[in-house]
This record gives sequence, structure tokens and C-alpha cells, in this order.
Amino acid sequence: MVARSATGEPRRSAGATYGAVKQPVLKLNSPMKAAIHPEYYHDAVVTCSCGNTFTTGSTMQTLHTEVCSVCHPFFTGQQRIIDTGGQVERFRRRAQRAQQ
Ligand SMILES: [Zn+2]
Repeated sequence: MVARSATGEPRRSAGATYGAVKQPVLKLNSPMKAAIHPEYYHDAVVTCSCGNTFTTGSTMQTLHTEVCSVCHPFFTGQQRIIDTGGQVERFRRRAQRAQQ
């Protein structure tokens, strides 16, 4: 039995090789090219504006964020508008002007 797509056409199998180009296998002695990569910190400290801190991997030793998994509305379940650059205020002014 031939599997058919939604349009009724027979579905091409995953192993189809129409016009496929064989990719060259890249073989390297070292997994990374030397002297072009920044230093990687496995215990970079992230500080959120809510006061929460945690560690992660990064090329920066310290990081600062505005939201994190502790204070983001998705995780807190609270409805809260994160206003960056007064965009909410600007929208309200525009809405008021449109009503006049
Ligand atoms: Zn936070």
C-alpha cells in the first residue's frame, strides 16, 4: 500500500534521492579551529533586575537580564505588561488621539 498525502498524491519516501547531492564528510583532527573562539565560561552568573541570580554557560562572565524564569509573567501566571521604552504609554496616547 502506498501512503498518500492530503492531496491524494503518493508520498515520497524519506529515502528519496531526487537531485540529492552527496555532502562531503568533514574530517578534522580538532573539533574547533584554534585561536578564533572566545573563552567559554561554564559558570557565567546571570543577574536579573528582579534580584534573582543563576548560572549558565556563556562567553560572558556576567550577564544582566530584565526578565527571568522567576519574574516573567509566563511563569508567574500574573498578567503584567513589561513596558520597554514607554511603548504602552505611547500606544495609549495614540489611541486617545484616534478617538478624537
Ligand atoms: Zn527576574
